[in-house]
Amino acid sequence: MPVAGVDYPRTHQQLLGWFADEDACLEYLARLRWPDGFRCPACGGDVAWRTARRALWMCAACGRQTSVTAGTIFHRSHTPLTTWFAAIWFVCASKNGVSATTLQQVLGFGSYETAWAWLHKLRRVMVRPERDLLSGVVELDETLVGGRAKPASSVVITKVPVMVAVETPPGHQLGRIRLARADARNSGQIIDFAHQVIAPGTLIRTDGARNLRQLAEQGYAHEYKVMLTSPDPAHEYLPGVHLVASLLKRWVAGTLHHGISRRQLDYYLDEFTFRFNRRTARSRGLLFYRLLQQAVTTDPHPLTTLIGGTDQPNP
Ligand SMILES: [Zn+2]
Repeated sequence: MPVAGVDYPRTHQQLLGWFADEDACLEYLARLRWPDGFRCPACGGDVAWRTARRALWMCAACGRQTSVTAGTIFHRSHTPLTTWFAAIWFVCASKNGVSATTLQQVLGFGSYETAWAWLHKLRRVMVRPERDLLSGVVELDETLVGGRAKPASSVVITKVPVMVAVETPPGHQLGRIRLARADARNSGQIIDFAHQVIAPGTLIRTDGARNLRQLAEQGYAHEYKVMLTSPDPAHEYLPGVHLVASLLKRWVAGTLHHGISRRQLDYYLDEFTFRFNRRTARSRGLLFYRLLQQAVTTDPHPLTTLIGGTDQPNP
């Protein structure tokens, strides 16, 4: 278990002290990327020198140069790593999440678009480790999010259906969650969503919607209850989904005062998932550590693939 003050900064003050320059950031990324020490991808050698271009580690055995940021969101970024680290700290330390406008102001970015692109890069980092499938007993339902924004073109003015899957292990604590936006209410997408996020053999609980009954023929154990009234979602039969849905709605309402586009909603669903699944982490610094750890194993996403890209199914 990583330790505060040793593996990650305990406070913002400590953050500033640890990561005063690019070199300190690079050393830290190297430590996260190679936790057992440098390993040359070409020859397996474990001794390396830092080159004059400080982001490169040169293998002492074969001379191959490896960049600590290659294949990560930091690669070829023109922004100093110190700024990246500050942004990640800020996102993790803020309990209610960060809007692009706030990030732009706090970090002094020239444009809203830059801040927005950053948030979406971080989103890719947040969802990456979320590929493990939910298992055990999972509640599955759809809820409606948003619906209070200004009537501007790209802004959500109708409520958006969001699919929710929650692990409900024995005991009081909920397990992990997965969220995804659906194109329409009660579409068949929830079946695809189930296959994307829930392991075969899992017991899935749902309401009595007819289209969900096919889950029983598709490798899942399926329990459902037909609701005579139609609460959203069913409080008693699906308490886990109900709790997550109400937390999500409150969080979205508190974070997004100016309304959100559907694509921005995707970012916020992933951020909510990241935060929820690590909600027991005692320290905000630990979130910072986890996010950076995930960042050094993620792929770079240029802005061109971000725009429009989030409307594609996201495995
Ligand atoms: Zn080598």
